[in-house]
Amino acid sequence: MFVRTRISCDSPIEILYYSSRKPGNYPICYYYGESEGLVDSSQSLKERFKQIYPLCEGCQGNKKEFYTKGEIKTNGRASKRHKT
Ligand SMILES: [Zn+2]
Repeated sequence: MFVRTRISCDSPIEILYYSSRKPGNYPICYYYGESEGLVDSSQSLKERFKQIYPLCEGCQGNKKEFYTKGEIKTNGRASKRHKT
């Protein structure tokens, strides 16, 4: 059987479109997906986290912070250990 549906023709494009908007391919704001007006993460953040998602000025103005992933463990510094 050969069935032609417009939906099946359109959906791969849509999937591609959304997957290309993932952070990493090109910088977009983590919260709004905005690609303009992005702010640079601070050097201290870059040293502490392996991955820092972009943040735009608008979100920074709304008290949003950089979404970070993969905290780099440093010996002694900045990490307080509590004994249980
Ligand atoms: Zn934003």
